[in-house]
Amino acid sequence: MQLRYSFRMYPNDPQRLALARAFGCSRVVYNDALRARETARTAGLPFVTSAELSKQVTAAKKTEERAWLGEVSAVVLQQSLRDLDTAYRNFFDSLKGKRPRMGAPRFKSRKDIRQAVRFTANARWKITTGGDLSLPKIGDVRVKWSRTLPSTPSTVTVVKDAAGRYFCSFVVETGQDETLPKATPEVAGQVGIDLGLTHFAILSDGTKIDSPRFLRRAEKKLKREQRRLSRKTKGSSNRTKARIKVARAHAQVADARREFHHQLSTKLIRENQAVAVEDLAVKGLARTRMAKSIHDAGWSSFLTMLEYKAVRYGRGFHRIGRFEPTSQVCSQCGIKDGPKPLNIRVWECRACGAVLDRDINAAVNVAKAAGLAVSACRARVRPELVPAQREEAGTHRDGQPTVVGIPSI
Ligand SMILES: [Zn+2]
Repeated sequence: MQLRYSFRMYPNDPQRLALARAFGCSRVVYNDALRARETARTAGLPFVTSAELSKQVTAAKKTEERAWLGEVSAVVLQQSLRDLDTAYRNFFDSLKGKRPRMGAPRFKSRKDIRQAVRFTANARWKITTGGDLSLPKIGDVRVKWSRTLPSTPSTVTVVKDAAGRYFCSFVVETGQDETLPKATPEVAGQVGIDLGLTHFAILSDGTKIDSPRFLRRAEKKLKREQRRLSRKTKGSSNRTKARIKVARAHAQVADARREFHHQLSTKLIRENQAVAVEDLAVKGLARTRMAKSIHDAGWSSFLTMLEYKAVRYGRGFHRIGRFEPTSQVCSQCGIKDGPKPLNIRVWECRACGAVLDRDINAAVNVAKAAGLAVSACRARVRPELVPAQREEAGTHRDGQPTVVGIPSI
């Protein structure tokens, strides 16, 4: 299985300059190639091949106006052409209906929020014995290695994000040999997960999981910085400063969210032999009024993590169809009594009389639809059946237990 590992990099001033040059050259090569293809298209000429574009880059280096392309690693420029090819391939595939619709490749701008260059094995980059990342025509850059790479990667991508931070990112091949011990019998071995609007996730055992405090705090800070930015006069230097602060707060929210997703997915995979989720088909849902909350909650990236960890640790992972009517069916007796408006959180089943909690009922139905053996009684809202608190569980505002502390990975 392929996994991406990213690490923070701390280039010094000359290295920052060299990286800025690499980002710039890579962008120019991309835009020149895109222009060549667009010009050919409007003139009714055949599609310009990658080999032809590659020749044009070599020729451009000999001209006065593009001579500076020689100051960066040739591999970076070649990779930029490959990126353009990928963008075209995806676009053509989307026209043929092989993937969701997307626009034609677009010109890159120096104002793009994310800048990236890629070095392959041909570029002879390496990790030095001192633990620096040695990049051709840039130098030995200091890296904070937060975890060990499971195998030696062949390619490294260097990224500068909107907050001005640098990262090196590797794709590495990992085996499936890191199987966790089997889940202990006292923990529910199989679990259904419903991703809700009132909570981040609800488990079929009745646990309701909210975003942790560190994520909520980061989100609050982002809102504050956004408000400050909106009050600054356009074109002022204070506005520029405020914009950088917003970008930084954005990055912190993204980091906190990723951390939360990692912690929660690891916990769920560690404690269960099998997990079942509802397929979100986020693209379809995103068009509805739920769009904002879906994107904020980042469910799709959470599900991706959950799935790859399940594969990696030999756990079962089930995605049930998005049209499974999980909130229309009573998890106790199985009767389907139709859709209920979103504001109905609790109802009584007309057939069996069970009083059901909307979210937990859905989570139990998800587990059942995936064929998991889960106890259905958790979905019932009765004093004697209030879900047992799991370790470190606290109490949420609405009186439902909430996991507040999740052990780190
Ligand atoms: Zn019922």
